[in-house]
Amino acid sequence: MSKQPLMERIAGSGTTLGEGMHITRALPTRHRRLVGAWCFLDHFGPTDASSGRGLRVGPHPHIGLQTVTWLLEGEIVHRDSLGSLKAIRPGQLNLMTAGRGICHSEESPPVRPARLHGAQLWIAQPESARHGEPDFVHHAKLPVVQRGQLCVTLLAGTALGERSPAAVATPLVGMELRSLDASDTRLPLDPAFEYAALVLQGTATLESEFLGPGTLLYLGQGRESLRLNTEGPAVVLLIGGEPFAEETLMWWNFVGRSQEELTQACRDWNAAAAYFGTVAGYDGGRLVAPMPPWAIHGA
Ligand code: MN
Repeated sequence: MSKQPLMERIAGSGTTLGEGMHITRALPTRHRRLVGAWCFLDHFGPTDASSGRGLRVGPHPHIGLQTVTWLLEGEIVHRDSLGSLKAIRPGQLNLMTAGRGICHSEESPPVRPARLHGAQLWIAQPESARHGEPDFVHHAKLPVVQRGQLCVTLLAGTALGERSPAAVATPLVGMELRSLDASDTRLPLDPAFEYAALVLQGTATLESEFLGPGTLLYLGQGRESLRLNTEGPAVVLLIGGEPFAEETLMWWNFVGRSQEELTQACRDWNAAAAYFGTVAGYDGGRLVAPMPPWAIHGA
């Protein structure tokens, strides 16, 4: 007996950052917290970043996760407490591993393309990795595979015989699918993985679901392939992985396992605990951690 894989449309929540940049939060939502170890997905822009100072996200901390930055347009400068200073452009990948603690800032460079458009994702680290050392790696080049009318870039994991150089700690995959005009193109999937897709640009029909930006299409487990049709240019982000086996809790920029741990991380950051380090060269203040509701209303 074969079970039909799940197919759920999950509306992302919209928010606005800084000088009017639109963000869709596709993960986590009330309906779905994880896809494999992927625990956060923000789609930002496209926006005009030419006026003012553009994007400015001051120094803030992370624990227990890896951040993945992926751009379709524009440029962002990353600084972190390891001393990294790196500009990222479309087609490149920034992978920052928080482990036991890191802090970083993100900003538009003074001279930059007018438009900014991209995605930021987080990967929950398993117990075996989450207390480890922080790390930052900029991948200037990623494997790109042509499959029919689809141009597939491998952000993380293995697919179509290629492996991303991005180091992750659990079985997962992340790909950008770029298409001008795909007609019934089939992409092989790993049936042990659960998957979800988010359109970043244009529209696409995945299996029989017509999809535009703003809605996460959860595809469940047990699929051997995904059928894709597009009319005109489209960019789809496809994420997947083995269902994450550990119970996670998220608050602000932290992924942990207990309320106490997350409360402590907020207190530590706000007290400038040494293990988060400091960001050099960012022209602006560091962010303040909002205390979680259980810590405010509790004893
Ligand atoms: Mn961050």
